[in-house]
Amino acid sequence: MKFKKIYLLLFALILQNFAFSQEQTRSKKEIEKLLEDAGNAFFNLDVDKSLKLSKIALNDAYLIKDDELMAKSYNIIGLNFEEFYNVDKGLNYYNKALYHANLTNNDSIKDWVNNNLGSLYSYRKNDFKTSIKYYKKALIYSEKIKDSIEIMYTRLNICSAYFAINDYNNGVEYLNSIKDFVVKGNQLEAKISMCSMYGSYYSNLKDNPKAELFFNEAIRLSELNTTQLLDSNVCDVYNDYATHYKKNKDFEKAFYYLNLHKELKEKVYNDERIKKVKLAGGEIELDELERQINRIEGEKDEQSKDLKESKLIVLLFVIIFFILLLLLYSLYKNNKFRDQSNKELKIANEELKIAKEKAEVASQLKTQFVSTISHELRTPLYGVVGITNIILEEHKELASSPHLNSLKFSARYLLSLVNDLLQINKIEENKIVLENMIFNISDEIKTIIESLEFIAVKNNNKLILKIDSSIPEFIIGDKLRLSQIFMNLVSNALKFTKNGEVKIIADLDRVEGTKSFIKFQISDTGVGIAKVDQEKIFEKFVQIERKEGDYQGTGLGLSIVQKLAELFGSKVELESEEGVGTTFTFTIGFESDESKRNEIINNIEVDLSSKHFYKILVVEDNKINQIVTKKILEGNNFKCQIIDDGYAAINLLESEAFDVVLMDINMPIINGFETTKLIRKKGITIPVIALTAFDKEEITEEALASGMNDIIIKPFEPVKLFQIITNIINKKNAD
Ligand code: ADP
Repeated sequence: MKFKKIYLLLFALILQNFAFSQEQTRSKKEIEKLLEDAGNAFFNLDVDKSLKLSKIALNDAYLIKDDELMAKSYNIIGLNFEEFYNVDKGLNYYNKALYHANLTNNDSIKDWVNNNLGSLYSYRKNDFKTSIKYYKKALIYSEKIKDSIEIMYTRLNICSAYFAINDYNNGVEYLNSIKDFVVKGNQLEAKISMCSMYGSYYSNLKDNPKAELFFNEAIRLSELNTTQLLDSNVCDVYNDYATHYKKNKDFEKAFYYLNLHKELKEKVYNDERIKKVKLAGGEIELDELERQINRIEGEKDEQSKDLKESKLIVLLFVIIFFILLLLLYSLYKNNKFRDQSNKELKIANEELKIAKEKAEVASQLKTQFVSTISHELRTPLYGVVGITNIILEEHKELASSPHLNSLKFSARYLLSLVNDLLQINKIEENKIVLENMIFNISDEIKTIIESLEFIAVKNNNKLILKIDSSIPEFIIGDKLRLSQIFMNLVSNALKFTKNGEVKIIADLDRVEGTKSFIKFQISDTGVGIAKVDQEKIFEKFVQIERKEGDYQGTGLGLSIVQKLAELFGSKVELESEEGVGTTFTFTIGFESDESKRNEIINNIEVDLSSKHFYKILVVEDNKINQIVTKKILEGNNFKCQIIDDGYAAINLLESEAFDVVLMDINMPIINGFETTKLIRKKGITIPVIALTAFDKEEITEEALASGMNDIIIKPFEPVKLFQIITNIINKKNAD
């Protein structure tokens, strides 16, 4: 028994459902229509038309990439091939249909394709087990979509497969389950199949009357058929019926139905039809091949694209790898370099440490040197200044002697220059404090000019002095520091000018309150200073084009000048042109308040006209200094006793009363500090004033610790000495 249901019939119905359920694109609708026509053509055995339409539909489905339409197209193509041409090719197209159907959510198409595959295995390959497997899968889909007609046909298919392997018991169960539904329904095809299968069933049970009843009914219904394709089914009914009669040895009837079977078969499967399938099918196969080629090429393109991309990735990878390698290398190099630098730094640090230690030692040596030189220079200078004073005092007629005044000035200048040279660090540290002295600007400048007159004469220079008459007669300020500035600037002007003139101008620039600002100008018509050197010359030890033997300077002059001017709150400005001349300008504000001025003058007068006859003990080993100090003190009506040794001084103090002791520090047998300590030890409270050439700051601490009351640095202004002596005695008396 054979029964075969062709799964195409429900297209129209499903199409309607789609139209309602979702919006279709025009092209999809058109393809659906093509497939519907292809299906109908197949049922009417117009295989040529059916295949041509499916071919167009399939190509279009590919264009719009619609799996459902592809599945449907392949299904119809499969049917045509299976039925009329080549079973294996048909199987191939069903498989394609199933592949695309499984990519969709449409269970109907899955149901159809599985049914068609089942039928192919049943009727073409006689592989009923595989067939039943496909049918049962189809049954699951048809039950899922609850399509009773589909369920009915699928069960008929399963029954037919079981009957084919003579499993009538299993088969009849499926047949019985749909019997009522078939009878009530109007599915002619189903009715023919069912009757034919019951015929076979009863024929097998040897219930001939029942079998013939069903076969006859099947044949009666077959004659009602108008669908050409169903002829193949009817053809099978004739065959089954012939088999039945053959089994019952009714050869006449068997021959009759076999003949009917043969005639109908020839009608359905004629050569012409098979040729048409071959032709139309060939075109479809060509298309398939083309698609396959395109797919392969597409894959190839993809692959070459992938290859290009992977090549690019590899290239990038290699580049990154190299960059990383370079980075690593530079890191390594850096590390090495750093290590090297660290080593070098360590060595440099060690060297610096050693250098620092050396510098510290050198600095200590320098301090020691400064201290020694300071003392050694100051002591003889004290003599020069003192003796000059003595001469001037003893020989009043020499007071107006320019030579003697020059000597006195030069000695004083030399002393302050020595101090400045040796204390250049202190100048830089701004440790120099300007003192307040009362002076006449014209006198001071004239004195300077006089002391420098010999250079002017030597270089054949004319010295011109212009002093503004509106400058107050007496002003207050540090005249020694001012002289230092002038000495440097004027001596430079005279040194660097030949056969020219040097002008010193002092103008009252402005008056602010009690302060008179005087603008000083020292200009010459000398060699001038090149623009490039103008900044440099204020630096320490800078000398431009110094000629050996020509001029012995230290290169410190202008740097001292600038720093002193800064102490005065001023700044030295320079204007110079090579071959034309140089002008230095600075402005200093001096206190010119009359009351302050009188105060200072009065103080001096009080001291100088002291009516007290103080008794002073001078402890000093230097013979010249002994004379100088004695003269100064006696000049002020003080009584003075000189002693050259500390121990002798102590003895004298024990036996004789004095008002004050002036104590030298540097003495051979016992120094001033030790002597003072012994004096204090003996309970003698007499004021002791250190009279020394040492730097005040250097000895202050030790002096006070040893019991001294004050310090006076040699050389000193006599007035200052008297002031200190008077103050200290007054203070003691007040206590
Ligand atoms: P010194 O006079 O000891 O060399 P200074 O500091 O006083 O040192 O001067 C520095 C340099 O500036 C001098 O060597 C000189 O070259 C230059 N100079 C200073 N004053 C004048 C001037 N009036 N005319 C030309 N050059 C000058």
